Amino acid sequence: MKIGILGGTFDPIHIGHLIIAEEALWQCRLDSVLFMVTAHPPHKKSPEAPAEDRFTMVELALEGEPAFRPSRLEIERGGNSYTVQTLKELHRLYPGAEHYWVVGADSVLEFSTWQSPDDVIQMANLIVVPRPGFDLSQTDPKLQGKTHVLRTPEIAVSSTIIRARLHEGKPIRFLVPAAVERYILERGLYCVAG
Ligand code: ATP
Repeated sequence: MKIGILGGTFDPIHIGHLIIAEEALWQCRLDSVLFMVTAHPPHKKSPEAPAEDRFTMVELALEGEPAFRPSRLEIERGGNSYTVQTLKELHRLYPGAEHYWVVGADSVLEFSTWQSPDDVIQMANLIVVPRPGFDLSQTDPKLQGKTHVLRTPEIAVSSTIIRARLHEGKPIRFLVPAAVERYILERGLYCVAG
């Protein structure tokens, strides 16, 4: 079994996440992609929306998509969400499976600062997704030959852009799935300047 994992803050989930998960599924012939919702990202500032809201938005976005599954593993563990710990848990849960960690270019460029990067590449294959503004030629040489770079159109959408648009009262229609847009507006998430 080949399991992809897209780890993220999903603050909120957007079409970029869905497009890269679909590309990874298809290009790497994965059986499924787990959307691993971070409790607390060690390399980023604290998420704006609570973990439960971020998880619910992921569930809404993945409804009717059996190959995409939301995971609560990091939320249940709490504290800083280190990839190496998550991979150890996944190896226990799915012995014999092959794991493919999907990362955007911004995230892979920080690879040397991850906790126990050598263990991460022992336990998972890395699928790297190009992202506008990030130069993959600067990737840690340790990763040379150890990553699969997805061939995909670059998508200049980020959760930061969506939060900023909401703070400014701008529409986010089509940047996130319709059910996610409804949830954000009903709950008043990201609506005050923050
Ligand atoms: P923020 O703007 O808050 O930093 P984000 O849009 O980067 O958020 P995350 O939830 O942090 O979203 O991303 C999860 C993973 O998906 C990361 O590996 C990130 O690099 C990747 N990713 C997110 N958006 C894109 C995109 N448009 N293109 C390629 N990779 C992306």
